[in-house]
Amino acid sequence: MTDNPVASPFDDLAVTVQVAEPLAGHTWLGVGGPARYFCEPTSIESLSAVAARCHEQEIKLRIVGGGSNILASTDGVDAMVVRLAAPAFCGIAIDGQSVKVGAGAKLVHLVSETVQAGLSGLEDLVGIPGTVGGGLVGNAAAHGSNLGQRVHSVTVMLPDGSTEERLREDLAFSSGWSSLDGVIVLSARFDLDSDDPGRLTKRMQKQWIVERSEQPSGTRAVAMMFKDPVGTTAESLIAQAGCRDLCVGGASVYAAHANYVVVEAGCASSDVKQLLEKVRGVVRDRLGVELAPRIRVW
Ligand SMILES: Cc1cc2nc3c(=O)[nH]c(=O)nc-3n(C[C@H](O)[C@H](O)[C@H](O)COP(=O)(O)OP(=O)(O)OC[C@H]3O[C@@H](n4cnc5c(N)ncnc54)[C@H](O)[C@@H]3O)c2cc1C
Repeated sequence: MTDNPVASPFDDLAVTVQVAEPLAGHTWLGVGGPARYFCEPTSIESLSAVAARCHEQEIKLRIVGGGSNILASTDGVDAMVVRLAAPAFCGIAIDGQSVKVGAGAKLVHLVSETVQAGLSGLEDLVGIPGTVGGGLVGNAAAHGSNLGQRVHSVTVMLPDGSTEERLREDLAFSSGWSSLDGVIVLSARFDLDSDDPGRLTKRMQKQWIVERSEQPSGTRAVAMMFKDPVGTTAESLIAQAGCRDLCVGGASVYAAHANYVVVEAGCASSDVKQLLEKVRGVVRDRLGVELAPRIRVW
């Protein structure tokens, strides 16, 4: 973070707010302009105060998790961007077959801790980058499992800074989507099954190898472009439409795994955006399929 003494509407709150914080360092792609405001609250109370202030002053509030599914605009993001990386948002507590986890915890940590504790249900999700909060909002999925399947309840913060618990029956999850868009996910409880830790560890390690083989290697400057349509994969459609070699400026389709965009140093966020539009247009024109973006464009 940069030290910035510029005044902000949050100056009277017990939270350090950065003005014009570069977002490139908070996303996997490493591109994009600054956030108008940025903070990392250390408690639910300070997050609540920030949310309430944004609500009162009509300042948009956005949460960045691991930043593996965000494309920040070249022109910057006119919002308060909040990162829930403080210990208050990252705890993992196991109680029998129930696990309570903070939204800022890394998904990979949740998976490995539950596997070590002999709890099954999340091991297929090993290797998906990002946080539990980001994974719940976009219903992270791999190898036929998704994060929403095992949710018991989710604690959320509403725009006015109040909190509420939403039970499974009040939540909806589908491919690349959940009904949690528009609220701040604070924590979640998952119901898991007991299993043999040794067997689970082997299964997790196998899935990890498969997951890594399906991802671009050697760089973190990548993102998944589109959701898989029902009955097929975005990757196969992109390849079939002949888009493996497409590039715009410093952004190109990763040929070996065609649903990923990879960026070179110095690439502009607008290059990535244009590449997404180009791929989408070619797939539409050649195959008549409208791909839905997975990556969130800010
Ligand atoms: C190499 C690579 C491999 C991937 N493999 C997979 C895969 O196998 N399966 C899959 O499903 N996805 C995959 N993805 C996509 C991505 O990792 C997932 O979507 C992941 O769940 C995003 O989590 P994140 O914490 O990084 O979210 P971010 O990118 O930080 O945010 C994504 C969205 O969630 C919102 N958000 C984040 N946290 C919160 C919160 N606490 N409250 C409210 N909103 C929040 C953000 O505002 C944003 O709108 C992959 C991405 C990469 C780069």
